[in-house]
Amino acid sequence: MNLLPLPAFSDNYIWMLHNAHQAIVIDPGDAHPVLQALDRLGLQLQAILVTHHHADHVGGVEALHLATGASVYGPAREAMPHGTTPVQQGDQIQALGTPFTVLDVPGHTVGHVAYYGAPAQGAPWLFCGDTLFSGGCGRLFEGTPAQMLASLDALAALPDDTQVCCAHEYTLSNLKFARAVEPDNTALLHYQGVCEALRAKQQPTLPSHIGLERNINPFLRTRVAQVAAAAQAHANTPLNPQDAVAVLAALREWKNQF
Ligand SMILES: [Zn+2]
Ligand SMILES: [Zn+2]
Repeated sequence: MNLLPLPAFSDNYIWMLHNAHQAIVIDPGDAHPVLQALDRLGLQLQAILVTHHHADHVGGVEALHLATGASVYGPAREAMPHGTTPVQQGDQIQALGTPFTVLDVPGHTVGHVAYYGAPAQGAPWLFCGDTLFSGGCGRLFEGTPAQMLASLDALAALPDDTQVCCAHEYTLSNLKFARAVEPDNTALLHYQGVCEALRAKQQPTLPSHIGLERNINPFLRTRVAQVAAAAQAHANTPLNPQDAVAVLAALREWKNQF
């Protein structure tokens, strides 16, 4: 199986998985890069998976559906283009001979879902939209810090080798913030160097891996003493460092202004 991040807009990736004959795409905010890739690689589009309702994730769905007849799956609790099959926590989709399990991950939006694909061989894939980014997490536009914490905890519990396919190239700015939170984290310092070298060559920093994110992403580390202490030092109101929801809320607020 081949995994490709198709760049779109200024910093989106439309993820494509294909087996040299058929393909699926996740969050096609724009149909053009997908149609070009299908044409260039001689692929048939089998399915379109959507994580949430924002335009940069759904904008190309209808055009692609019309052009290819591909099935469309999207969150049951959000407004989706006509003809979308609604999916929610625990649902399974078969595509490219692989089962994809739907996870409800509210926070960025209230109905946001993620797709976890476990192939018979090789590392699993996580298509997590704007919930988990490498080194960061999505803004809380609709959901609460408690929802986002529960969503991130569920993603952090996936196997270490799970490939994290986020929808935006935000890694370098996230890592700058992560370094402010945890200046002594050597894994983070090393990863920042790796990502800076990739971006200098205009290469994606993604996919990342769950095992790595658990070691470097402050939003998955709200129960680590140094992370909680840093959040406490920057919080607008006093917070209990044992309260992971309050730590996450304070980190998110701090990052919004960083
Ligand atoms: Zn979004
Ligand atoms: Zn987005």
